[in-house]
Amino acid sequence: MIYLKTEDEIDLLRQANRLVGATLAEVAKFLRPGVTTRQIDQLSETFIRDHGAIPTFKGVPNANADPFPASVCTSVNEQVVHGIPNDIPLRDGDIVSVDCGALLNGFNGDSAYTFCIGEVSSDVKQLLKVTKESLYLGIDAAIAGRRIGDIGYAVQSHCEKFGYGVVRELVGHGIGREMHEDPMVPNFGHRGNGPIIKNGLCIAIEPMITMGSREIYVLDDGWTVITRDRKPAAHFEHTIAVHHGKAEIMSSFEEVEKIEGKIY
Ligand code: MG
Ligand code: MG
Repeated sequence: MIYLKTEDEIDLLRQANRLVGATLAEVAKFLRPGVTTRQIDQLSETFIRDHGAIPTFKGVPNANADPFPASVCTSVNEQVVHGIPNDIPLRDGDIVSVDCGALLNGFNGDSAYTFCIGEVSSDVKQLLKVTKESLYLGIDAAIAGRRIGDIGYAVQSHCEKFGYGVVRELVGHGIGREMHEDPMVPNFGHRGNGPIIKNGLCIAIEPMITMGSREIYVLDDGWTVITRDRKPAAHFEHTIAVHHGKAEIMSSFEEVEKIEGKIY
């Protein structure tokens, strides 16, 4: 069931999502070749807890594996999502997607950004640029009176123009008191299909886009999703509220992009 949020609830979601945006900005300041994803995790967990929130990903259960052991997901290169932080140093030319969730005053923030480490090849930069563009096209389609399929259509049609793969098995989601609520928000679909978008709808839109084939599989750790052809993947995510008829982005890349630059 889709639970539409009140103004007060949207305000609480906004606060949680701002904290997630600030956490990603802390990550951006810290990233350089030689940094490990475990260091990213520790920095993020400390920042989230110092601001009175709980990292929501830590301890998430999994029927096929141990609970998620970290506070952020860090997915490097061909890893699409749900990568587990480790002690392998990031190298010049890598990309790392950092997905961050925080629970603040009973409401969830959820946002992800794919960062470049040092100098990244131009074709990978294009993958990041197009994926991020598709996120904003999806957000622009989140208009009251339209349907969830309009969002997926906007994301998919943009990415497929460039020959990229749109992952089917993982989707965006409603968000509120629970990290994952109804409705599912696929990154593919048809205009005019799916649930109607209404004021008070709060969702995370999160294109997961591959440079090659869209086929994925899960590593033996039970979490890490990687591309079958081992080509790179990008993941950008914002949490939005439909408010006064259109989308308000509650998470933020503003601080991240002051550090990263807007080159892609
Ligand atoms: Mg996320
Ligand atoms: Mg999400």
